[in-house]
Amino acid sequence: MVTLKPHVVLLASPGMGHIIPLVELSKRLVTLDKFSVTLFVIPTSQSQLLKSLSTFHDEFHIVDLTPGNILELVSRNISVENRISITVQESMTSLKSHLTSMKPTPVALIVDIFGLCAFDIADELGILKYVFVTCTAWFLALTLYVPKLDEEVDGEYVDQIEPILIPGCKSIQPVDVVEPMMDRKTERYQLYLEFARKMPMADGLLLNTWDDLEPMTLKAMRENGILRQFVKPRVYPVGPVARSIGQEMVANDYYLDWLSKQPNGSVLYVSFGSGGTLSSEQMTELAFGLELSQQRFIWVVRPPTRSDASSSFFSSHAGAQDPSEYLPKGFLTRIHGLGLVVSDWASQEHILAHPSIGGFLSHCGWNSTLESITNGVPIIAWPLYAEQRMNAVLLAEELGVAVRPELVSAKGSVASREKIERIVRLVMVSQEGEMLRDRMKNIRKCALMAAGKGGSSHNALLEVAKEWEVDQRAG
Ligand code: UDP
Repeated sequence: MVTLKPHVVLLASPGMGHIIPLVELSKRLVTLDKFSVTLFVIPTSQSQLLKSLSTFHDEFHIVDLTPGNILELVSRNISVENRISITVQESMTSLKSHLTSMKPTPVALIVDIFGLCAFDIADELGILKYVFVTCTAWFLALTLYVPKLDEEVDGEYVDQIEPILIPGCKSIQPVDVVEPMMDRKTERYQLYLEFARKMPMADGLLLNTWDDLEPMTLKAMRENGILRQFVKPRVYPVGPVARSIGQEMVANDYYLDWLSKQPNGSVLYVSFGSGGTLSSEQMTELAFGLELSQQRFIWVVRPPTRSDASSSFFSSHAGAQDPSEYLPKGFLTRIHGLGLVVSDWASQEHILAHPSIGGFLSHCGWNSTLESITNGVPIIAWPLYAEQRMNAVLLAEELGVAVRPELVSAKGSVASREKIERIVRLVMVSQEGEMLRDRMKNIRKCALMAAGKGGSSHNALLEVAKEWEVDQRAG
């Protein structure tokens, strides 16, 4: 008799920063050899990058929901968060019809924070529902506590004199709150509140962090205390769930060839994630700062924008504009041999794993951060949007594996070329840089231990898996 494995389904919202961790979690789940796994994605021009994954495992399937590519149709006059949310909602009919036709009915549905609207469908079909929080425990603590803050705090969060307190956790400086909290009058803040109120309805929260990385916050969430009242579901820290280069993925991009010709630990990688952009003025200063530092670098560039640091979040990564049109005149010629500029998108997992990389100037998106940690690469923290300022604080102040240039913390200000030159040299060639590197290597060790067999995160994943197996038997 053939027994069918329980079926677990995941839903990734648009944006590579959401899709990549959901893909990685799917891979973890299918390799437990207990489940068949389907990942639903909402097609965008970016999700083309997933095609190569479809052959990863016989029991792992990637299914496109319909209607395809509606993201492009949603008005650009609303926030990135609202565009994603509307797009996910529009895909619910398609998700429901897929889930209804699956026999046997899936045992669990895992969504990211933008997929909470799928909870109603899961309830209707008797499927357990989970959120994979693709950020820190600290972010989750703030999010779950924000309805209380909303009742208690007068005026804008950013105008508070005192730090914002979350019971049992590190407090947050007003300037570092997440993007939706920057202006309480906006629809993006209302959406954030809505997510915060809906998240506790989950049967469990999977977190892309691990016990040793955020012990205090995780303790506050688990133990009976004030915060526990706001964290109803059980939390499972299962991270780091990050991309690593498997043997099945051999890349031969020209920049990897170039990296192979550079000395070990000598190259700074500069990238602002899947969609980060700088102003024209800031790009010019960064270009000169890199040049002045005389350190080797690889910089993934995008055309500058005035208005929105996340404005390339859904760009197609195809047909990118020639960088010589927007970088300072003569820059590309002058840095020849010293640095390399890659337009729009690079194979980050291969770059960060390369032995020539010695530092990462990063916007501190959580996936990039985890990729840096799992490769032991220290960070220059240059947060731009979302919860990245909190990530930068965690990295620089708590863990001591990053430096954060002062001016970058103030919105709208420009970090000067001199400041950038200094900070690049600090990370790449100073004693302090060595200390950052050593600490990062230690954290890397802890991260790999947590995720490996017998580690806290691996055990947490097995625990949640057990719940699904029990549920399958009971059903
Ligand atoms: N990424 C990449 N190449 C690029 C830019 C980004 O492979 O040129 C990947 C990166 O490795 C990470 C994800 O895109 O896995 C970006 O996620 P993150 O959370 O760092 O930032 P976001 O783009 O969501 O702001």
